[in-house]
Amino acid sequence: MKYFSTRGGADRLSFEEAVLTGLAPNGGLYIPERIPSLPENWQTKWKNYSFVELSVEVLSLYISPEEISREELRGLAEKSYSTFRHPDVAPLHKLDEKTFVLELFHGPTFAFKDVALQLLGNLFEFFLSRRNARKAEGETPESLTVVGATSGDTGSAAIYGLRGKANVSIFILHPKGRVSPIQEAQMTTVTDSNVHNVSVKGTFDDCQDIVKTLFNDKEFNAKHHLGAVNSINWARILAQTVYYFLSYFHFQSQLPAGVSAEDVELQYVVPTGNFGDILAGYYAKKMGLPIGKLAVATNANDILARFWTSGKYEKVDSEVALGQTVDASGVKETLSPAMDILVSSNFERLLWYLSYENAAGETDADKRAAASATLDSWMTKLKVDGRVEVPVAVLESARADFLAERVHDPETLATIKSHFEAATSYVADPHTAVGLAAAKRLAATNGPNVYQIVLSTAHPAKFLEAVSRALEGSSSFNFERDVLPSEFHGLLDKERRVIDVEKADVDLVKEVIERFAKD
Ligand SMILES: *Cc1c(COP(=O)(O)O)cnc(C)c1O
Repeated sequence: MKYFSTRGGADRLSFEEAVLTGLAPNGGLYIPERIPSLPENWQTKWKNYSFVELSVEVLSLYISPEEISREELRGLAEKSYSTFRHPDVAPLHKLDEKTFVLELFHGPTFAFKDVALQLLGNLFEFFLSRRNARKAEGETPESLTVVGATSGDTGSAAIYGLRGKANVSIFILHPKGRVSPIQEAQMTTVTDSNVHNVSVKGTFDDCQDIVKTLFNDKEFNAKHHLGAVNSINWARILAQTVYYFLSYFHFQSQLPAGVSAEDVELQYVVPTGNFGDILAGYYAKKMGLPIGKLAVATNANDILARFWTSGKYEKVDSEVALGQTVDASGVKETLSPAMDILVSSNFERLLWYLSYENAAGETDADKRAAASATLDSWMTKLKVDGRVEVPVAVLESARADFLAERVHDPETLATIKSHFEAATSYVADPHTAVGLAAAKRLAATNGPNVYQIVLSTAHPAKFLEAVSRALEGSSSFNFERDVLPSEFHGLLDKERRVIDVEKADVDLVKEVIERFAKD
């Protein structure tokens, strides 16, 4: 299997190259040259497979055995998911007759990003070790310096994914004092020698600007082999397709008596920011997993919800732009911060498929080239004008597979409360609550055979403020007893390792990297 850029060009990359490159040089994202279909008998053969076993099956459809053998894949998956606390890795929790929650937060940092980043860290280590083993004696070994900025969630999942990995060092910049205490503690209490937390006196945007400048500095980049672990990395999407399969089988095994699988339509509701999580579901569906609709759930940063309403992909809602208040970057601060985005980076991949479905051409190669050219023109328009509108036929294609809902903070809080106070008391984090609120709205118009799986993307203990605010009126609520996992006890008092940078200045950060990176 080879990979090519959504924006076209003749380059065809191996899986390894696509994973180590991240973003294509022409600005596009890598996608597989075709979406593989499922082997015959997958329904019966895979039915009782574990998360690791399903990972081997699904991943091997996208990775040539010459690149990574099934045995090697199994080893990588076992290592990656042995860090999860739940035997199912991603258990399916039944809320009521028709609603299930797919809990993706049982990894080391209690957030769904662990599913992808645990695997990505092991893939990096695997590729680098193999490259170095092939080198002649005396040649300098290859290493990778991962640099990123975080306002909270992604940073700790990346750190836990890369801690202790050979030939990899990681520098995560966070704005000093502007990350929640739990998230800061999660990151800075990792004391492995290849992990460097850089606390920058400045804002999250300052941190991001510094990282961008570093990546654009060719000399520095070449010297340190900078790498990124952003959500556009293909391996992250691929790792996430696995839990759609697992939850499908777990759902089948919990069907109420008298209901047959053929009569049921399964709807996935996904709290969405950069569109990585739900895109994995799209791949699963296109491979042949019988999914009904995939539902995008956004917070007030609703560029995607607006797209499905209007066919316009625009940073600022042109219909209410006048009088709308947003911060300087245009991002609205909400109670579900991991979904506070202006544009969704992985949406470009879906746009390529939508463009392809509507492309004209004699041969498939012609259609692909046409799809890339159209996509490229859309992305250029988005960059220049801040907006692009797709043709009606394209919007119709998007609606064939997806639904979209936007949920504002007050409804998020009310949802946390109502689920806690329900007979089947459940404490949801604010991101999951956005999904639950969207699911409830959709359920009102769903047909009688539709069942819903809501993806739960974080443990509620990570979002103490929002959860406490939602439940402060519930007399029976006790954060320590009802929410706090034992792993968090004493976290704030643990030893920390952090490098302070007194000013948001790229040269100061460079000095830090020079000092600590392996060269
Ligand atoms: C990253 C994240 C999301 C959004 O996932 P995308 O793949 O970016 O759409 C939702 N919830 C939480 C808690 C996250 O960390």
